Amino acid sequence: MALKLRRGERLVVASHNPGKVREIRDLLAPFGVDAVSAAELDLPEPEETGKTFIANAKLKAKAAAELSGLPALADDSGLEVAALGGAPGIYSARWAGEGKDFLVAMSRVEKELAEKGAAEEDARGANFTCALALASPNSACDTFEGKVFGTLVWPPRGDRGFGYDSMFLPHGAALTFGEMEPEKKHGLSHRARAFELFVKACLEV
Ligand code: IMP
Repeated sequence: MALKLRRGERLVVASHNPGKVREIRDLLAPFGVDAVSAAELDLPEPEETGKTFIANAKLKAKAAAELSGLPALADDSGLEVAALGGAPGIYSARWAGEGKDFLVAMSRVEKELAEKGAAEEDARGANFTCALALASPNSACDTFEGKVFGTLVWPPRGDRGFGYDSMFLPHGAALTFGEMEPEKKHGLSHRARAFELFVKACLEV
């Protein structure tokens, strides 16, 4: 049986990434859950030692739930590029370096694609994956995963999103995640898909 969250209940969003916290807050807003971020509670960021998105999401959710005494929701996500064997994958944040500069990370993806000769659209396939984990302070933990597939464009387009959004063109769309209205991205993103599963299992609709 999955953990259940009631309206008015407090939840820690176990992330220090402002872009993710903003999206998760927007997604939680209709359910009346009072979301506070790990940064607001001054919780330390655990080291991401897992080998999968799910393992890292679990590790972050469990650490935040234990330290705060509140249920905690963590997101571990990233970009997987088919021609690069799934890289950067769980290392997506780390490719941006100390300065967390995603132009650096996107330029590396583009450079590695160029080295593979991946110039045509069908050689530039990629997907975002999002793993969500909801942990309770008593260490129970549920996980949910969502994906969205598309192609990578260069140069990057749009400045509305975060991370790799401005080079990701979802299948069937004319605008990159960096160009589209946030509501549009929320309708089709990897995070939205994982969130849908989380909502069905854990929230009062
Ligand atoms: P994490 O905090 O270790 O899960 O890092 C995930 C990284 O993947 C983020 O810092 C972003 O670079 C990237 N990422 C995850 N979700 C998205 C998204 O929705 N748009 C763009 N980049 C994303």
